[in-house]
Amino acid sequence: MSGDYSSFLSITDWRCPACNTNTNSLGNTFSGLTAVALHVAGKIRTGDSNHKQWASNIVGISIYDPTVNKSINTLADELQQAVLEHNRIRHEQLSAKIRELVEAQLATDEPHVRAYRHIKQLETSLHEFVQDTLQETFVGGNDSWWTDGIPLDIRKKCANRREEDTHREELYMYTDLIDLKSIIEKNWKLFEPKFRRIGTKISKNEFLHDIDKSNDTRRRVMHPIRKDVTTDELTFLKDFYNLVYRLALPRNK
Ligand SMILES: [Zn+2]
Repeated sequence: MSGDYSSFLSITDWRCPACNTNTNSLGNTFSGLTAVALHVAGKIRTGDSNHKQWASNIVGISIYDPTVNKSINTLADELQQAVLEHNRIRHEQLSAKIRELVEAQLATDEPHVRAYRHIKQLETSLHEFVQDTLQETFVGGNDSWWTDGIPLDIRKKCANRREEDTHREELYMYTDLIDLKSIIEKNWKLFEPKFRRIGTKISKNEFLHDIDKSNDTRRRVMHPIRKDVTTDELTFLKDFYNLVYRLALPRNK
């Protein structure tokens, strides 16, 4: 949250700045900013000292101005901005607290959970990188990137898998991490410029070896009897993901 008004308005948890309730006099949850402002205005007009105090502190004496105070609606209009601001800050603090908790949770996750997360990110990025690179080159016909870029044995395997799958995804969805290695190897001259573009020193063989290494960890992490993933492995996965992420970034970004 960076004070973005539109995303803020999508939040559903509105509270009164004075008494912290989130329901109106009928016991219904506030439907939005106007509802909270009307609640505060109503309380002020019945002489509630708590709400009057908050409003005169924050909004000022204008709330006692007869032209403002003449109806609950005009008074609510006057309060609206301050009510919004209060809820915006409250929501930002809440988001910050949630972020903190999530980050603390991630840090305490067991190594294999963290490894799993890195591998998922890595696979997604590498998958995109390979597809984008092939599609940039094989532009003749709809699926020439598939027929010309992907080795036949992998295409056959994917077709078989799709036949056995009730979901019947796009063929490329059935490739494995290790298939991506073969595809890059087969088309190295197409991938090589991307490595030069980001200025990495990693060689073709090192990169392909790193895919193997990630795949070994992947197999262990997915196995029901998990062996511990070491700190070195976690660091390796994270670094390798960062490299692939940079490779996969579209041009001019
Ligand atoms: Zn209230």
